[in-house]
Order: sequence, then C-alpha cells, then structure tokens
Amino acid sequence: DLGKVGDELELPVYAVGGFVRDLLLGAENDDIDVSVEGDGILFAEAVATRMGCRVKSHAKFGTAVIVFPDGLKVDVASTRLEYYETPGALPTVERSSLKMDLYRRDFTINTLAVKLNAEGFGTLIDYFGAYRDLREKTIRVLHNLSFVEDPTRVFRAIRFEQRLGFPISRHTENLIKNAVKMGFLDKLGGRRLLNELVLILREREPVKAILRMSGLELLHFIHPDLALTSDTLRVLDEVKKVITWFELLYLGEKVETWVVYFLALTSSLPDEGFWGTCTRLSVSEHYREKLIDMRIQGEQVLEIMARRAGRREGVRCSDIYFWLRGLSPEVLLYIMAKTRSDEVRRYVSLYVTRLRSVVTHITGNDLKVLGIPSGPRYREILDQVLSARLNGEATTREDEMRIVRS
Ligand code: ATP
Repeated sequence: DLGKVGDELELPVYAVGGFVRDLLLGAENDDIDVSVEGDGILFAEAVATRMGCRVKSHAKFGTAVIVFPDGLKVDVASTRLEYYETPGALPTVERSSLKMDLYRRDFTINTLAVKLNAEGFGTLIDYFGAYRDLREKTIRVLHNLSFVEDPTRVFRAIRFEQRLGFPISRHTENLIKNAVKMGFLDKLGGRRLLNELVLILREREPVKAILRMSGLELLHFIHPDLALTSDTLRVLDEVKKVITWFELLYLGEKVETWVVYFLALTSSLPDEGFWGTCTRLSVSEHYREKLIDMRIQGEQVLEIMARRAGRREGVRCSDIYFWLRGLSPEVLLYIMAKTRSDEVRRYVSLYVTRLRSVVTHITGNDLKVLGIPSGPRYREILDQVLSARLNGEATTREDEMRIVRS
C-alpha cells in the first residue's frame, strides 16, 4: 500500500535499514523505515489521508512518522545527505539520492533497501555489501571516519553485536579503539550517550554488552570512576536472574529493566559518583531525582533487612511488608540482586508473590461507623489490622473488628 501511494505521487519508495535487515534474518521488527526519493513529508501525509492514520512531521529533517491505529509505526525519510559539522553534534540535512542516504548509515547490515513501488516491487538494493556481511555475520562500518562523524555508533555496534551475535569486524573494532584513544567520545552529548546506554540496557543480554564496553574502555566516558568491579558484575548477573524470575511470575506489571541494570551498573559508585553519572548523561532533573530516590530507598532497606536477617527474634511478615511497602518493582528487583543474603532475597520474594496483595476486610468506612474521629489515627489502626492479617493473627472480619475495638 505504501508503494501504491508512491506510484500515485510518482515517488520512488523503499523499505530500508533495520526493517530489511530483520526481514532477511527472520527477526521481528515492528518499526518500518521507509525512504522516499523526493518529499517524504508529502508522501507521509498522503499515506495518512488515504489510510486514516496520524502523522508527525519534522520539516527541518524532511522526516515524518506515520502511526497506524493498530500501533504500527512507519518512519519516513526523504533521501538526504547529512553533514556532521562537529563530531557528536546534530547533523545538517540536504536532499540527495537513495545511495547517499544509505551511505550515511551506521553499519553495512543496515544499508539494504527494498523497492516498494509496483515497478520493481521487492527488488533488493545492496550498494555496500550488506548481504555479504549479513551472511558472514559481521558488524562493519561503511568508512573509516564513521565513529568520528558520530561516536554513538560505537555503542550501537556493541548493541548489535550482542543482540545479533554478529562480531564487530577487526577493522571496525580498531576504528573504535582509535576513536577512544583520540578522545572522540568525550564530545558525545549526554543525552545521546544516555539514549544509547538505555537502548543497550533494554536489550535481553545487557551484561555481555557491558563487559564489551568495559573491554573497550568505554565505561569511563560515562563516569571516570565507573568500572566493572567483581561486585558490580555479580550484581549485574543477579539482575538478569531476578528479572527472569519476575517475568516468569506473569504479574502483568511493567518493569523498566534498564533502570534496574543502571542501578546495578552504578552500585559500586559512591553517591557523588552516581550524581555525576546522571549529570554526565544529562538525565532530566525530574528523572535524576527519581533515580537517586530509588538508589537511596534500595540501600536503606538493604541495610535494615541485613541488620535484622538471621537475628534470634525473627522477622515477621508484617516487618517485611512495611519495609518494602510502596517500593517500585525496579527497586525491589535491585534489592534482590544487590543483597548477598539468601534470607533477604526470600523476604523480597515473599513480599512480591504474596504479602503485597494482602488487604484487610475492614476499611476506613467501618472506623467511621464506629464513631472514631477521622485523622491520622485511621492509618495507624488500619495498619495494625493489616499487620495482624499478614502475621496470620486475624483471618476474618470479626477478628479485625476485635482488634479495632481493643
Ligand atoms: P532497532 O531494532 O534497535 O530499532 P534499527 O536498526 O531499526 O534497530 P534504529 O535506531 O531504529 O535502529 O535506526 C533506524 C536506522 O537508522 C538504522 O537501521 C540505521 O541504519 C540508521 N541509524 C540509526 N542511528 C544511526 C546513527 N547514529 N548513525 C547512522 N545511522 C543510524
């Protein structure tokens, strides 16, 4: 259908990049990248009108995003040439041919195009040996200045290497080492670096990618003191395990897995280092506060639980509940990964699987009916009742009412 709109407007239209790569690899990819030889925005608007979907255009870049009602997303680009005036800066855009559009891409495997117009429909266009590199399973840049032009590609290379299991070619790896040595990554803006880091931490196997980043001496670009100590590595490996465990519980709860990995990666840094990392990555003030809160909450609860675990007086279910109440799943998983105590891990597991869904029969309304004046006392009474329920000292509504009356 995209090809048909192209035909009507007499514009050559191609599916390009990651979509074609994944098509040939038989991998799933819901984002379609389309390149139009001509005015991509005009094309996107015509598609939106004919198919009843939304479109968002960026005239400055000649790009548009078409969003279909079922959530499918099509990124449209006008074939273009980008100039990077300084390393790490945003590109200046000019119109050009499909070949030039593909030449500015990161790796050969992302340079394939498939014609979508009726004439020549399905023709595979391969200017830069992409098909060969897909067969040989290798990540290769298109030219020697690629990482100087855009240092984010260093991180993209690692992400693709781990995700696809395609090693970075020797020459490309040498170019990365050179870019690191020459300090080109220093020029990389915080937001762009954050974006790449988040994409890496959202992958299924981030730990391998982090090891690779460490091997290529990339971590200190995130923070000079960031290093992969054996403890950091232990926590990272545990994160993988607890996330798998959590997913297998099928609670239908969304977890920002990258946040858990991020907390783990930075867990050996002192507070100033954590703060400095957030600043280097230009994390927004709001999000930075959120991350710092999560880290502090995690550390505090870990300390309390470690102090209590293994003591003679024993830990009650209500203790666990009130230690962990209100913590986000990300913090809970971080605690589970960070602790060295199996007992603490069991506490969190018990909370996640059972305790946190325990509720009382009675509500504030019952207290009102009993004539108790409303105020902070309500919370105290209800928490007391909840404690009794959690500890198995109250099971019925009558039990709970008895506690209230007492
Ligand atoms: P993913 O499956 O992670 O979305 P993708 O290949 O679709 O992978 P995107 O980040 O969506 O990646 O980018 C779309 C296309 O744009 C890529 O195929 C790549 O060719 C190109 N691209 C993205 N970032 C860069 C970059 N920094 N330099 C050059 N080309 C890039």
